[in-house]
This record gives sequence, structure tokens and C-alpha cells, in this order.
Amino acid sequence: MLPDFRVRQRDILLEIARAITQELDLPRLLDQILRYAVEMLGGKAGIIALCDPAGRGGGDRRAWHVAASFGLKPAFLRVLEPLLADLPAAGDPQTVVLPALNDRLRQITRIASLGLLTGLGLPMVAHDQAVGVVFVFREPEGGFSANERGLLQSFADQAAIAVSNARAFSQVTEEKRRLDAILDGSAEGIAILGPDNHIHRFNRALQRLSGIAQESAAGRPHDQVLRFAAVTTGTTLHQAEAGGWPLSDQATLYVEGTLIRGDGSLLPVGVSYAPVFAPDRTLQNTVVSVRDLSRFREAEELKSTFISIISHELKTPVALIKGYASTLRRDDAAWDPPTVADGLAVIEEEADRLAGLIEDLLDASRLQAGGLQLHMGEVQLASLASRLVDRFSKQAPQHTFQIDFPPEFPPVTGDEERLAQVLSNLISNAVKYSPPGTAISIRGRVDPAQVVVTVSDQGPGISPEDLPHVFDRFYRAVDAARRTKGAGLGLFLARAVVQAHNGRIWADSRPGEGTSISFGLPRADSPHPLTDPS
Ligand code: ATP
Ligand code: MG
Repeated sequence: MLPDFRVRQRDILLEIARAITQELDLPRLLDQILRYAVEMLGGKAGIIALCDPAGRGGGDRRAWHVAASFGLKPAFLRVLEPLLADLPAAGDPQTVVLPALNDRLRQITRIASLGLLTGLGLPMVAHDQAVGVVFVFREPEGGFSANERGLLQSFADQAAIAVSNARAFSQVTEEKRRLDAILDGSAEGIAILGPDNHIHRFNRALQRLSGIAQESAAGRPHDQVLRFAAVTTGTTLHQAEAGGWPLSDQATLYVEGTLIRGDGSLLPVGVSYAPVFAPDRTLQNTVVSVRDLSRFREAEELKSTFISIISHELKTPVALIKGYASTLRRDDAAWDPPTVADGLAVIEEEADRLAGLIEDLLDASRLQAGGLQLHMGEVQLASLASRLVDRFSKQAPQHTFQIDFPPEFPPVTGDEERLAQVLSNLISNAVKYSPPGTAISIRGRVDPAQVVVTVSDQGPGISPEDLPHVFDRFYRAVDAARRTKGAGLGLFLARAVVQAHNGRIWADSRPGEGTSISFGLPRADSPHPLTDPS
């Protein structure tokens, strides 16, 4: 062997050593190793076959497969693959895997070269696991010398290390990608803190919850980003740490309160903290998960409002009915006919009110359960309004009613009974909230795409603070609640019905100047439907 060839061999070994420490892309690394091996041994061609670790690759992917080839035709590679396929993938490398491998390689050499080439194959063993084989074909000039075998083996060893490094690296990268996907895909807000409580990771859900961008949260102290306006349950991370938290990795912490979001708005949240310890028992990270509790709070509030409405609004008529009924049926008293008639009138009125309230509550829960059934037809709002006014003038003779609809008021497509409910809720509010002797007007207006109906009264009006909420479920202005009966459902249901008709409803009112509530519905005869039914 020539001295300059020795120099080249040394250079190649050095280059490979460098590649192994720097190159983490497995296919590129294997290509380099194979090229050098073929060059160094004066070969014609070569392959590196790898064995996938058990359980990886999955499906019908073969355990042994050609991972790099040099100087071989694709057709030959196709013959080769099945010959490798049934080699044992697991077992002791020295007694099971390697003898089987050597056998197979001798076979492969015979087939591949038709006797023209000889082959040298060496196992790549890392951490006692056969990860693959480097195989070089060359002309049979007396076989490979012991020195060449030694060289190829040192190659194979290095290649084995490189393969397991690259695999470890790609496993870590894959794990990281998976973790990132889990973090970012999670609906729960998650942050990961370093030992100094600075934010390392901040997922997308937490960005949405907190209103603070991921980029601006990263690197900042926890207390600056997750700020509480009030704590309702538990202790904050700060307080807990002052008390020595966490003592073990079981030491989770939960705090509930209102979070101050990036734009200053408030959000009720539940936050849990879980510590992650390093093997030397020092605190490495804290995993913070933040859950939005606003739905939960809303439901709780609604439940308590509901209970107070039920207890107040349902109990009152029941008590009146019961009181009048038991008074009238007393055996020891004889009531004159007018007294009996008055009592029965109260009973009837209160029973009606009770039935109405139950109907409203049922409608509200029907709405929540997913929608209102509409029975659509052609509705003439002008005649509907005059029918309702007839009814209300009898019930509320102290008020005067005015109806003002232009002639040939166009029809709308809708559910007549539901629209009557809307209009009577508006008229009953006008009657209920405005003083006797004042006028209530119901006016109709025709626009190109919609018709608008407005109910106006000369009552006390609605304060600007209450105005945005009058359509909310169970909402009643304090003053109204003190002086009148009601569940705060009338306008909520009216809005739901109007919106189900693709219309909208709004209130105009100023304290002392009366109230006008209007709703607009798309015209049945219009070619332009309403675009914004909000
Ligand atoms: P319900 O209609 O369920 O019997 P309610 O009349 O209190 O009860 P809504 O009709 O939804 O409920 O009205 C909500 C609130 O809006 C009322 O409590 C009242 O404060 C205010 N409001 C509605 N209409 C008028 C009006 N015409 N004048 C003054 N305030 C009104
Ligand atoms: Mg009402």
C-alpha cells in the first residue's frame, strides 16, 4: 500500500470524524460515510442497510432496508430489498443478528456480482444494538486484507455512532414538534416558567385568554403577565412561594380570580401551577394552566338570578290566588256577589300572569336549547297591531292608544303568533312603565328593504346605563324592579324572535322623555334582504 494512500485514508477518517460530530441529517451522513468507505477500500459500489428500532416505522415498513447506496443501479436495489427484509431485527447482535446478517450478505454478494465482485460487510453496532451494516463491493484481487477489514470496521463503528446520534436527534426534534403541537393545539391556556418564574413558553390559547401576544409574553416575569385584579379562591404563586411552595412534585397550586387582560378588560379564570423538578431535586420549570371561567360564572349567575325570579315572580301570584281562593271558600262567611266577582277576577288575572311567566321561562329555555320553531306565513303587521290595541285598550283603559300605519303597508314573512308576542311585549311594557293618562303610539314605517314598527310611550324613559342591557335575559332596571312586577324576559324574547326573522330591534330613550322601542323586519316583497341582522 502506497504511503500517500495511507495519508488519504487518514484524511478520510478525520473527515468522517468531523462529519459525525457535525452532521445530524441522517441520509446525508450515511451518503458521506458510504462514499468514503468505497473510496478507501478501492471499491466499485456499496450500500448501507439499516435496521429500524423495534416499533418504529410501523405498518408494513421493513425492519431492514437500504438507507444509502453508491454506484448501484435502482433495479439491483429492488432485488436487494426483499433479501434483507426477513432478517431478524431483534436479538443479541453477536449470536443472533450478526451470523444471520453475514450469511445473507454472502448470498447478496454472489447474486449481485455474478462472481465478478467480492464483498465485505461489517456490522454497525452501537450500544450493543445492531443498527445496520456497511457493505462494499470490489473486484476480487485476493480479497480484503486484515488491515482493510480493520479500517472498514472502524468506519462501521463510527457510522453506528453517527446513526444513533442522528436518530436520537431526530427523536428529540420529533418530540419537541409534538410537544409544540400539543401546547399550541390545547384549548387551555398554558405557560411554562423557568426556575426564576420568567415565561419560557406561552401557548396560543393563553394569548387569546390573556390578550397578550406570545412574543411579548416570552421572557417576562410571570407576575407581570398574569396579573390578578382579585383573587376569590386559593393563594397566588407569589404568596405560595413565600410560604415555601413547592416542596415536592405533587405540590400543585390552584388559584381562582379575575385576570387583568392586555387591554385592561377582566376575565374570570382558574389557574393551576405544577412544578417540574430536575433529577437533582431543584425546581426546573413550573407548568401553568389557565382556564376561562366566564361561561361557568355566567351560568352560576344565571342560575341564581333564575332562582330569585322564580321565588319572587312565581310565588307572588300563587300567594294571591291561594289567598283569594281560601277566603272565598270560607264556610263561616257569606260574600256578596260583587266581592266574589272581584276575588275571582284577581284569581283569573294572577293565573294568567302565572301562565304567561311560565310560557316566557319555557321560551327562554327553549331558546337556550337551540332555537325557536317558526311557523312562517304572510303577516299583515298593521292589522295585527290594531287587534292588539283593541285588546290592550280594554285591559288598560287609563291609557290612550294611537295607531299610525301608512296605507298599503307591505306584508312580511313571519310567524304571526311570535310577532304578536313581540308587539304585545312592547305594548305591555309601555302600559306598565308609563303613568295612567298618557298616550301610547304604535307606528309603522316602510323602507326600501324593511318595515319598521315603533312602540312609543310618555313614561319615565330608560337611563343610559340601563339602555344597553334592556334586551339581556332577566335584566330589569333597579327602579322598574322596585315599582313593577316582571321577570326581565319580555325584551329578551322579543329580540330572539325578531332576530330569528332576520330582523333587528333597538331602543331609543332618554330619562324623562319617554321610550321608543322599534323593530325592523325584511319586506316579503323586497328584492334586497337585510344584510346586517345584528
Ligand atoms: P317581563 O317583560 O318579563 O314581565 P320586564 O318588563 O321587566 O319583565 P323586559 O320587558 O325585558 O322585562 O324589560 C326589561 C327592562 O327594560 C324593564 O325592567 C325596564 O327596566 C326597562 N323597560 C322596558 N321597556 C320600558 C319602557 N317602555 N319604559 C321604561 N323602561 C322600560
Ligand atoms: Mg316586559
